[in-house]
Amino acid sequence: PNPILQVRHLITAFDTEAGIIRAVDDVSFSVSKGETLGIVGESGCGKSVTALSVMRLLPRPMGHIDAGEILLGATDLTRLTPDRMSRIRGNRISMIFQEPMTALNPVHRIGKQISEVFRLHFPETGETEIYENALQMLRKVGIPEPEQRMREYPHQLSGGMRQRVMIAMSLACKPDILIADEPTTALDVTIQAQILDLIRALQQETGMAVIFITHDLGVIAEICDSVLVMYAGRVAETAPVRELFSDPKHPYTRGLLTSVPRLENRRKSRLRIIPGVVPSLYELPDGCRFQNRCPHAQPICGTQPPMNPVSGNHLAACHLSAQLPPVRKQHTEGAI
Ligand code: SF4
Ligand code: MG
Repeated sequence: PNPILQVRHLITAFDTEAGIIRAVDDVSFSVSKGETLGIVGESGCGKSVTALSVMRLLPRPMGHIDAGEILLGATDLTRLTPDRMSRIRGNRISMIFQEPMTALNPVHRIGKQISEVFRLHFPETGETEIYENALQMLRKVGIPEPEQRMREYPHQLSGGMRQRVMIAMSLACKPDILIADEPTTALDVTIQAQILDLIRALQQETGMAVIFITHDLGVIAEICDSVLVMYAGRVAETAPVRELFSDPKHPYTRGLLTSVPRLENRRKSRLRIIPGVVPSLYELPDGCRFQNRCPHAQPICGTQPPMNPVSGNHLAACHLSAQLPPVRKQHTEGAI
């Protein structure tokens, strides 16, 4: 399949008082039409910064893309003027966030905010048509009594309803790519499941690609086709979802999988802690960034591991990926 988005050797850095840090350091991945790519890792591993880089929404002036390409078709988004990028954002690539309250404007009614999206991207559309489109989007995301909701303010809606409004707004322009950054984390389990089902249904209808950012491997197992595991700003492993769960070739991925709680609990669970801590981006070790937590570390791990191919689309950034002991079956049973 033809990738619709290709990120190549992306480096994103932040200027901070304590120095410059690379929050994303040489990250590559691609996603095709209709595909769902999961990006998983503990907090601070660079998932959100990767997404914000693609959207060109890094906090300015501290955050900047220092190297790499973000190709949407043939267009390199890193080279676009802010003006051209703003026409792509919300139109060809949309993003939904963990807490929709921060993305919705509290002082404007829901109807006005959805209409704004249409007005921005289709300025020649008439007001009646805009109203009808907005209403139709709210119906599509399963909001009851949409006429009434249009007149309400964000605080009058529940968290789940607000996230549906955000999804409606982000899909209003039929984007080619939807980036969802932990969109269900703040919601209770039942609502989480409904939102995942909704995203999946809308994706089937529109054929859009979805990049789903989460720390929840249960969610990955449920909705993703392929997975990118990030650790301390780098890619640890990438694979089709079934292969990642059945044959993980990076010790970090194995650690994440072992810590997945049992099936019946997984929806409300976060990643459990792997012993040790993620190294500070200010004091990264030479070589493999996982070495202080890795049960298999060897002297060679003091040099940067290459992305070793395991099979077709399966790569692992570990010196020992070919020599790791087989995974015990029960590691993955609960996960998929
Ligand atoms: Fe562990 Fe070495 Fe592989 Fe890093 S390269 S994950 S330290 S075995
Ligand atoms: Mg995040």
